[in-house]
Amino acid sequence: MEKGKEKEKEKVRVLLVDDSTYIRTVLGSIITEAGFEVAGEAADGEEAIRKYMSLKPDLVLMDVIMEPMNGMEAMKAILDKDPEAKILMVTVLEDKDILADLMRIGAKGYITKPFSKDKIAEKIKEVLGE
Ligand SMILES: [Mg+2]
Repeated sequence: MEKGKEKEKEKVRVLLVDDSTYIRTVLGSIITEAGFEVAGEAADGEEAIRKYMSLKPDLVLMDVIMEPMNGMEAMKAILDKDPEAKILMVTVLEDKDILADLMRIGAKGYITKPFSKDKIAEKIKEVLGE
């Protein structure tokens, strides 16, 4: 598909959640370059819940390890309020049990850090069924 054609579609709005400002910035440029839009940013779980409810993004990229509320708790709370929420976890964790837990709770998938631009874009498209 030609890149230019994607502009005609309404852009997918993504909420970026990570306690690292640097990672949010990197994710922001990756998703913008991939043709998506940054709906907003949050630095911990509670802020993620608030921003999710006010911004109603199409998708959430959610870090797992954050203080005081981590990404797993935030995902549970968001899915409680909106069972249709599409949440992709972005994590350094490679523990199979934890990753399985994230999927069981309702994550649409996970991306392990360090991530690449291609991996992020591919995973987002997969979750959106494109
Ligand atoms: Mg973190």
